[in-house]
Amino acid sequence: MMLRRLFQLGQRTIKMATINVQHMNDGNGDSSYASNSFLQEHAIRRALPFLKHAIKDMANHDVFFKNDCFMIADLGCSSGMNTLLVASNIINILHEVCHENNRKTPQSQVCLNDLFGNDFNNLFKLLPDFYDNLKKDQGESIGGCFVSVVPGSFYGRLFPDKSLHFVHSSYSIQWLSQVPEGLESNKLNLYISKTSSLNVLQAYGKQFHADFTKFLELRYEEIVCGGHMFITLPGRSKVDPASDDCWSLWDLLTKSLLELLKEELIRESDINSFNFPFYLPCEDEVRNIIQDNGSFSVDNMNVYEVNWDPDDTDYTNMDDLNLEHNHNQGINTTMKNTAKVIRAITEPMLTSHFGSSIIDVLYKKYEKHVEERLATKKTRQFTIVISLTKNE
Ligand code: SAH
Repeated sequence: MMLRRLFQLGQRTIKMATINVQHMNDGNGDSSYASNSFLQEHAIRRALPFLKHAIKDMANHDVFFKNDCFMIADLGCSSGMNTLLVASNIINILHEVCHENNRKTPQSQVCLNDLFGNDFNNLFKLLPDFYDNLKKDQGESIGGCFVSVVPGSFYGRLFPDKSLHFVHSSYSIQWLSQVPEGLESNKLNLYISKTSSLNVLQAYGKQFHADFTKFLELRYEEIVCGGHMFITLPGRSKVDPASDDCWSLWDLLTKSLLELLKEELIRESDINSFNFPFYLPCEDEVRNIIQDNGSFSVDNMNVYEVNWDPDDTDYTNMDDLNLEHNHNQGINTTMKNTAKVIRAITEPMLTSHFGSSIIDVLYKKYEKHVEERLATKKTRQFTIVISLTKNE
């Protein structure tokens, strides 16, 4: 009994520890999330027309003009320009919609949420420019926009009952509340790969199902009647979770760790006991969970692809073997950019598990593998964007 309790406490400590290190790389240095979040920025920019559509749609309902202060939340906001890009996009659209309807723009509060370990201090330093730019764009008619932060996990309650009008979340809910249970057989893998067993695929799918359902239920409590939610998340284009558009870049990280194992810089047991707490769902999986849960209705659901290399803005040539962009830009820049995006989102977790001494060597090896891969295959991230209205 005592042993079981100790085991449960141990499990809880591992889960808490995962949540504490799940945040992105701090600051605004070379390896920081703030300097390497262009992929996510592209995803936000490409979602903009859908975001506009969602807010304009909301203006057809009473709830839109019936409040003195429009309450907005951005869940999993991270720390950098993307955070404020989202906030200013929403405020600007709000202003546009009010103008079109001959209404005064209401005051708004933007509540920025992320995990406790997020670098909120970096974000605070960007706020003076954010406020100045809003005034410059819209003059004093902006009505007053107040930014606050709400640290904590979005898998728990963050706001009072029926207090939010619009919830936004971009590239965040693919992060699970914990590493799924039952991954013991996923040895020498860091995520789903082509060697993962059916049990492993099911364990990941089940955890996403439970977490996303919980996320919808919690937001249902927090959003006012008629309120909206707008989610952008990385996913997979194929139904099969073991298809290679889901795991190829993660597999290269495993490959790099296996080289460190060969060089006896890490232990095999350390690789075996590590799995990333994230999941890339397909479109149907997301839609089915929303429908089964019943808290929200899907107004719109769209998909698009974002190039992993932030400097590659060519969406016309999707031909893998004719990598004109790479030849113009130099494969070196492309692979460095891609490797840096992955480093910015995985370094805190890998450092906490494997120790800091191997980190630079690990990502050097990773860069090399990414280079080899990108020489033959253009790498894109399938992205799902959903606009939801709270059900009565
Ligand atoms: N929305 C930003 C950040 C995406 S990175 C952008 O588009 O650039 C994903 C963010 O989700 C990270 O900052 C991470 O710390 C946060 N996150 C992950 N799990 C979370 C959770 N359970 N609760 C709140 N934030 C979480």
